[in-house]
Amino acid sequence: NLNFHPAGRHFLHIPGPSPVPDRLLRALSYPTIDHRGPEFALLARQVLSGIAQVFQTQHPVVIYPASGTGAWEAALVNVTNPGDEVLMYETGHFASLWSQLAARIGLKPEIVALPGNCSQTGFPNSWRRGVQADLIERRLREDSQHKIRAVCVVHNETSTGVTSDIASVRRAIDAAGHPALLLVDTISGLGSADYRHDEWGVDVSISGSQKGLMLPPGISFNALSERAIERSKLSTMPRSFWAWDEILQANQAGSWPYTPNTNMLYALVAAIDMLINEGLDSVFARHQRLATACRQAVHAWGLEVQCAEPSAYSPVLTGVVTPPDVDADGVRKIIYEHFNLSLGTGLGKLKGRMFRIGHLGECNDLSLLAALTGCEMGLRLAGVSLSGSGVSAAMTYLASTSSVQARYH
Ligand code: PLP
Repeated sequence: NLNFHPAGRHFLHIPGPSPVPDRLLRALSYPTIDHRGPEFALLARQVLSGIAQVFQTQHPVVIYPASGTGAWEAALVNVTNPGDEVLMYETGHFASLWSQLAARIGLKPEIVALPGNCSQTGFPNSWRRGVQADLIERRLREDSQHKIRAVCVVHNETSTGVTSDIASVRRAIDAAGHPALLLVDTISGLGSADYRHDEWGVDVSISGSQKGLMLPPGISFNALSERAIERSKLSTMPRSFWAWDEILQANQAGSWPYTPNTNMLYALVAAIDMLINEGLDSVFARHQRLATACRQAVHAWGLEVQCAEPSAYSPVLTGVVTPPDVDADGVRKIIYEHFNLSLGTGLGKLKGRMFRIGHLGECNDLSLLAALTGCEMGLRLAGVSLSGSGVSAAMTYLASTSSVQARYH
């Protein structure tokens, strides 16, 4: 019944889209201006230099009026030739979708993954851990003819709650002496998890608006390197809308070759201002702290965290594995209906076996605790026996690490 509105605000705790702060909602409502006029050129310059700061790059960032999937395709079509081989590491459902996209546009994706399944959960081992760079290095060393054009990895795998060490992938490519470009999906990492495009030697970083940047869905990004730009000049892949050259050229004059998403750009300027004012390091530390509190709750419930490797725990979301006889989507449904709280579903191979709690963007101690309370009550209503109160555990952790001192003194 679409006319039924439960009282109070909806608790959006899926791992993106994340809640849009009021300041950004207001920015979205500014009057749309002439996208070829002088006022727009100022906006464009502000956006382009600001977003580069968030990617921690000195190089250009291309902005598309498209969802993250568009930016995935854009990254590939600009640096490949038809039929090229690309090495894609399978960390989870999104890595797998990206490789399917690569196949559909005529590339030859080769999947690299940790073998086997977890004895406890039956999930693929590769879906519980970060990228194993040694597997990439081994495969690249075998490719003596350098047929592999690009290595593609997901920085923060949103389907599992596992974050990968991107610098280790760069080291693996260099150690193998291989010329493949490094393409990284940080769609759900950027603005929440530490990300350094230049320092980590990434050639194309892909991101989207609806996660750590706190905007609605609708724009996405390719951050480039010199090598990626050079490679794009030689690429023979048919492309038009996604082609970097025309966009980079138009951006120089503060415009786009087509009608840009003006109102999203207003909000993006405001979002960048919020992130830079807080300080990127503080933003990352805030996410880490909330993520730790969330895991403390899951451990106290006696449930399993999907990520099996503590050094790879995601600051963005936590995957919660339900006991084998409990349908995770049934639990989510109860939580949604009783508490007006949305949680992420288990994707692909994890369907029905786990749910995901997002703690990214506009999230604070109390919004996280509210979400955990909804989870705890919902799990109990679903008849799941819990070994303790996760909410209490999270409260204890948050109280002992309060950030008030830093802010008011
Ligand atoms: N990659 C990752 C890691 C994602 O989390 C998502 C979306 O959640 C995508 C790719 C696809 O992006 P979009 O749904 O914006 O097209």
